[in-house]
Amino acid sequence: MLCGWVAWAGACGDGGTRSQPLGTAAARDVVAGCDHVEPVAVLFESRAMFPICAGAFVEIDPTTSSAADALRRDYAWARQELDVLFPAQPRPTVLLCASAACKEDFGADPEAAAADDLGFVAHVRRGDTIEGAVVVSGPGERTAAILVHEWIHGAMGQHAQYELLPTWFNEGVATFFADEPRCPRVAARAVASLRSIDTKAQWQAHLRATGRTQQTYCQSRDEIAAWLANVPSRADAAAAARAVADAVANGSSFDAAYGRLHTE
Ligand SMILES: [Zn+2]
Repeated sequence: MLCGWVAWAGACGDGGTRSQPLGTAAARDVVAGCDHVEPVAVLFESRAMFPICAGAFVEIDPTTSSAADALRRDYAWARQELDVLFPAQPRPTVLLCASAACKEDFGADPEAAAADDLGFVAHVRRGDTIEGAVVVSGPGERTAAILVHEWIHGAMGQHAQYELLPTWFNEGVATFFADEPRCPRVAARAVASLRSIDTKAQWQAHLRATGRTQQTYCQSRDEIAAWLANVPSRADAAAAARAVADAVANGSSFDAAYGRLHTE
């Protein structure tokens, strides 16, 4: 069956076909090529985090835990995805937290911190400096995908601040490329119009009022999938998303940059 890159977007098969499926020889090579790091803990906020690769730190001591191998594999695979989607762009530091307390140290809402699918973009103190980071739950079954989702937010944020773009667009782009959260082939609609959840406050109020979290992410993702349906490659699709962000950052309206919505 000819699925091409669209398979990865969930339009063909189960959406599991990525540029470098986990466990392939190519993905293992990336892990093997993970930059050598000295096994010295680094303080972020006041928490010691252990390096597993340049730019990636874990809560658990990798010298005493085999879970670090899984995290290194997840990190290396996610980095490879980002290299395809957002090439030649600085990567924010990645902090992989096993515990709720670790996520709370980096800014997680205490009510959400225990969730094993939590990931977020944060600014954290490292020594005397504040730096951008993505914080992701791990190890876990979906750690790599959650990391790609959050990393895309970080990468898009380098083109336009999150708040400058409609929230459904930000979340739809991250969900589309990361396949996280996973979406059914045909998702029930969660909201009459995505334009009613343009702002982060509207998005959050909608999720609180309806409880339709996954459906809302998936409706946003479906709009992005429809928008990008005829784009020939994932790299080109990511470039299209970046172009919208760049246009809005340069003063264009989102409507002018994106055009009409394709699913409503
Ligand atoms: Zn998101």
